[in-house]
Amino acid sequence: MQYITILGATGSIGVSTLDVLARHPEQYSVYALSAHGKVAELAAQCRQFRPQRAVVGTPEAAQELRRLLADAGLSTEVDYGVEALCAIASAAEVHSVMAAIVGAAGLAPTLAAARAGKKVLLANKEALVMSGQLFIDAVQENGAVLLPIDSEHNAIFQCLPHNYGRVPQAAGVAKIVLTASGGPFLTRDVASLGDVTPDQACKHPKWVMGRKISVDSATMMNKGLEVIEAHWLFGAPADQIEVLIHPQSVIHSMVSYVDGSVLAQLGNPDMRTPIANALAWPERIASGVAQLDLAQVATLQFERADMLRFPCLQLAYDALRAGGTAPALLNAANEVAVQAFLDLRIGFRQIDKVVAHVIETVPHGAASSIETVLEQDRQARASAQAYIAGRLAA
Ligand code: NAD
Ligand code: MG
Repeated sequence: MQYITILGATGSIGVSTLDVLARHPEQYSVYALSAHGKVAELAAQCRQFRPQRAVVGTPEAAQELRRLLADAGLSTEVDYGVEALCAIASAAEVHSVMAAIVGAAGLAPTLAAARAGKKVLLANKEALVMSGQLFIDAVQENGAVLLPIDSEHNAIFQCLPHNYGRVPQAAGVAKIVLTASGGPFLTRDVASLGDVTPDQACKHPKWVMGRKISVDSATMMNKGLEVIEAHWLFGAPADQIEVLIHPQSVIHSMVSYVDGSVLAQLGNPDMRTPIANALAWPERIASGVAQLDLAQVATLQFERADMLRFPCLQLAYDALRAGGTAPALLNAANEVAVQAFLDLRIGFRQIDKVVAHVIETVPHGAASSIETVLEQDRQARASAQAYIAGRLAA
């Protein structure tokens, strides 16, 4: 029996993970679940999966959850806060941790899982973008196993030979090609992008996801974060990572080899496939996803990404090339800007302006420790907030 902790159980990835686990009760058991706010949803998940522990964001939420679980006759141990998240990510009983908290908030518990030598199923790309080499070092020094959940990275993982040692050239890799749907605004008149609403930005043509990553997909900052994520996961330099728009989202990414071969992973766009792949790796289990019917898909289209339409993608490449804490600044500024957009405080076209401002004004340095990275994260957030407040006052 494999015991699993799910960080961010009530989110889009968390719910898909539980869906896959429910199909294999003889193989997997839930050790712990976490959620920030949605206490009633978490209580329902606890009733179904009977975890030993559950963690929420605040003492009030913990009290509410305890009451709901007591009413249901469950003895799940309830706690709250970051230390409790780190505890359920690193507990001795746990084999695998699904890291599916959104944003920088996921860094500490994801790192705790790596330091405890767990099998880390990584959905929380922001944690890796922020901490880069420090995170990879924690994985390697503690014998953790890092398995990508992001569909593109899971696809690349499946197309690379195993144990190639994070030196793609040594395995004959010429290029890693990340596919991107292009999001809801791929063909919309650029001049009208200033007027789009959060609901329009969150209406993704191919994937149903949380609101933050949906906005990131609309700006293509998501693909930018994924370029940085691919750099750290696979050891490829920025010049070897290419983004290709593919609106059907059937090819989830590709690896180009020096002999001219291109290996791709295909499937219906449903996160249960990469989740099942990572859970069972190196074996395979059923995920509930229907088999791909290519005759029905009929057409696969491709085009190059337009950096003028999607300035966030360029900003992310620039941050990766700048190195050090620059990606942490990019990520923090973007989180603040996306939240401000969702709160109707800034327009869609101001998201990239906020990020560019923070990168230009907050000096980045070496990412020498997690404390340094977190300090840069704080500075970037303060700078982004001040810039937004200044624009609103102007
Ligand atoms: P979501 O918004 O649906 O869910 C986020 C989860 O994190 C929720 O359970 C929420 O309670 C929890 N959470 C939010 N803020 C928190 C905080 N401050 N402290 C602790 N917990 C907190 O997001 P999602 O779409 O499931 O995405 C989760 C992660 O997976 C993101 O990093 C995203 O980039 C990545 N990802 C998602 C998809 C997808 O299809 N949804 C695909 C690839 C990668
Ligand atoms: Mg992705």
